[in-house]
Amino acid sequence: MLKNSYVMPTYARADIEFVSGDNATLMDSKGRDYIDFTSGIGVVSIGHGDNVLARTLADQAKKIIHISNLYYIEPQERAAKKIVEASGYDMKCFFGNSGAEANEGAIKIARKYGEVDGELKRYKIITLKHSFHGRTITTVKATGQESMHNYFGPFPDGFVYADTIDDIAGQVDEHTVAVMIELIQGEGGVQPIDKAKVQKLAKFLKAKDVLLIVDEVQTGVYRTGEFTASQVYEIEPDIITLAKGLGGGVPIGVVMSGKKDVLGPGDHGSTFGGNYLSSTAAMTVVDFLTHYKESGALDEMIIAFSKKLEEIQKAHSDIFSEAVGFGLMRGLRMFDADTLARLITLARENGVMVLRAGRNTLRFLPPLTITKEEMDEGFKRLEKAICSL
Ligand SMILES: *Cc1c(COP(=O)(O)O)cnc(C)c1O
Repeated sequence: MLKNSYVMPTYARADIEFVSGDNATLMDSKGRDYIDFTSGIGVVSIGHGDNVLARTLADQAKKIIHISNLYYIEPQERAAKKIVEASGYDMKCFFGNSGAEANEGAIKIARKYGEVDGELKRYKIITLKHSFHGRTITTVKATGQESMHNYFGPFPDGFVYADTIDDIAGQVDEHTVAVMIELIQGEGGVQPIDKAKVQKLAKFLKAKDVLLIVDEVQTGVYRTGEFTASQVYEIEPDIITLAKGLGGGVPIGVVMSGKKDVLGPGDHGSTFGGNYLSSTAAMTVVDFLTHYKESGALDEMIIAFSKKLEEIQKAHSDIFSEAVGFGLMRGLRMFDADTLARLITLARENGVMVLRAGRNTLRFLPPLTITKEEMDEGFKRLEKAICSL
């Protein structure tokens, strides 16, 4: 590690330097191994050090990494096809480089839709109080958490917050063009929204021609058991955004929409978006995970992981109030928020990496390819950490 850092201090980071990884197991510079229940916050969906992804990226890098969107990019077209087919929705994709950028794209589609469709300009977008949609000026404003609105104003207008899903319909007026929600709030605390309520809202919005944007930056790409959480919820959103797990660690974001032709030439763009490297990564990851899901292996792991969490909650019901989440986006709700920070540190000291979400949730986002052995070892280490609280 360098003595002086030239990196801005925006992260409260731990002093560990990882040097290599193999699936859900990481090695640090001191030779200690860790079970990774974080996958880089839901990013490394097919695990660390995947040979097929590494080889495919190296082969592509030797040919072309980047050309620009002024030309036809075959891997981008193929990645879009795979993404749309895996979703089962009749949509088209726009590629960017991050979750926030994907959400920016979603907001632009909605705003243009509201501009040209009808006589009255519709621009308002309703989001939820405990949401998280990104860190750019617009997506930070779309994020309903007041604490994130310090310092950075003035913000773009037109975002309205609803306390809960029940309050969204009442906020819709003649200026409303879209509602943007996460189906399972990630940063907000692994908080699934009630399925029946979401389905009812989707129907209501469709009748009003108000677009439903589902932010699947964290829930997407099989994280919740299906390619999108929208499929788990059996809804048909107008716009879906994906990012975290899509490139297996290579930066990429996608906004996909059934409103295929709202954005035309010149309306939107990205220098890096969908270049040869990142779209090759997305193509490889989606291809691999689609087969992994079809083989039944993903569903088996989800069942095994859920069982472990239930067991831990029952065995330590004085510490954890409930096990929450879907698929491999899981959490253990804790009674005491102060214990949470201590537990995360203790877990790390015992060789297992876990995350925090919201105020009092211990969050698990393992690689989707985690093996039974890695999972068992991780929970064994976590158990030790819990017992030393
Ligand atoms: C992580 C996340 C984002 C932001 O993604 P970045 O790639 O960090 O810009 C947006 N929405 C949700 C739901 C997220 O979990």
